[in-house]
Amino acid sequence: MSRPPRHLADLELAERREAVAALGERAFRADQLSRHYFARYTDSPDDMTDLPVGVRTALTGELLPRLLTSEREQACDNGATRKMLWRLHDGALVESVLMKYPDRVTMCVSSQAGCGMGCPFCATGQAGLTRNLSTAEIVAQVVAGERALAADNPGGAPTSTSRVSNIVFMGMGEPLANYKSVLGAVRRFSDPVPSGLGISQRSLTVSTVGLVPAIRRLTEEKLTVRLAVSLHAPDDEARDELVPVNRRWKVAEVLDAAWDYAAATGRRISIEYALIRDVNDQGWRADLLGRLLAGHLVHVNLIPLNPTPGSKWTASRPGVQEEFVRRIADHGVAVTVRDTRGREIDGACGQLAATVTGRSVGPARREGTHLLPLA
Ligand code: SAH
Ligand code: SF4
Repeated sequence: MSRPPRHLADLELAERREAVAALGERAFRADQLSRHYFARYTDSPDDMTDLPVGVRTALTGELLPRLLTSEREQACDNGATRKMLWRLHDGALVESVLMKYPDRVTMCVSSQAGCGMGCPFCATGQAGLTRNLSTAEIVAQVVAGERALAADNPGGAPTSTSRVSNIVFMGMGEPLANYKSVLGAVRRFSDPVPSGLGISQRSLTVSTVGLVPAIRRLTEEKLTVRLAVSLHAPDDEARDELVPVNRRWKVAEVLDAAWDYAAATGRRISIEYALIRDVNDQGWRADLLGRLLAGHLVHVNLIPLNPTPGSKWTASRPGVQEEFVRRIADHGVAVTVRDTRGREIDGACGQLAATVTGRSVGPARREGTHLLPLA
């Protein structure tokens, strides 16, 4: 475990210019490099024909080090879902998933290698935290996605699916536990080219387990990103078990912080709720959830727990799930069941890394994985 090398995506454009000047080159070279990376998705000196050869090699060596090495890639849904497993410079593994829909492309990124929050139904949580990712390591996942999309459509006219349109921080890690790097990544995603990728903040979703002080800090940033809160239970008794951090910040505090975020940003909060058979899927819990959320700017995303061989928990029965949906809707609260893209490629984050490392995380919990975002 060690710090990744400095990369231009870690820096603001002005800082990149300073870094280029410090290397003895003209400052505008920073803009050229940035355009190659953020608009053409390349970090290869051979592609940079607008820079003198010697300058290319020197600057890419210093400011565009390769941060991700492809370890494995898997596709399903006829290629519409692609899961990428990356090895970082120190050997840590992280995953990202590219999902093509008819009208958009959503990319799910990791913010940490592993996660320290210990949710017992989650594969990433079982392995613990390896380390935080740098801003550039988060950004590089999306740049790799853009590069893959561009390769699918060589020379073609831009379409609604030729670029990443939405980004969700729902891969490995708790984004708000790596606040600074995640905020940097949000800026790089949304800054216009050549500063960043130029993706609207409204199309970015930060998903959190409920770190209240960090939600409050995010509220003050005056951003317009969507906030998803992984609630998973409306009562502290169940949530203390499913989401251990609830022992520190209770349901009521988490929801208060979420409502303040909604008030400050005008954005509807997304409540994530993994339905687990006989654990949190009872009718009374649906009613309680409905009562807590009614009247707020909110939408509930129910996620059938990723069915996992060997796990003591499994997804709810279909009838139970329908009843849960109906009861929430009866309170006038918007609710959908998330499409579970990518299940056949191990659902998502956590599982592919576990396969590659051969890591065993205990039979009862081994294959819990994240579900892929939808919405
Ligand atoms: N750490 C953040 C973001 C990454 S997890 C968070 O917890 O919100 C992304 C989503 O996947 C969260 O809602 C998480 O609760 C959910 N998830 C994790 N493991 C899951 C599983 N086995 N089945 C269904 N959803 C899962
Ligand atoms: Fe971490 Fe999110 Fe998994 Fe909980 S669900 S362990 S917060 S990645």
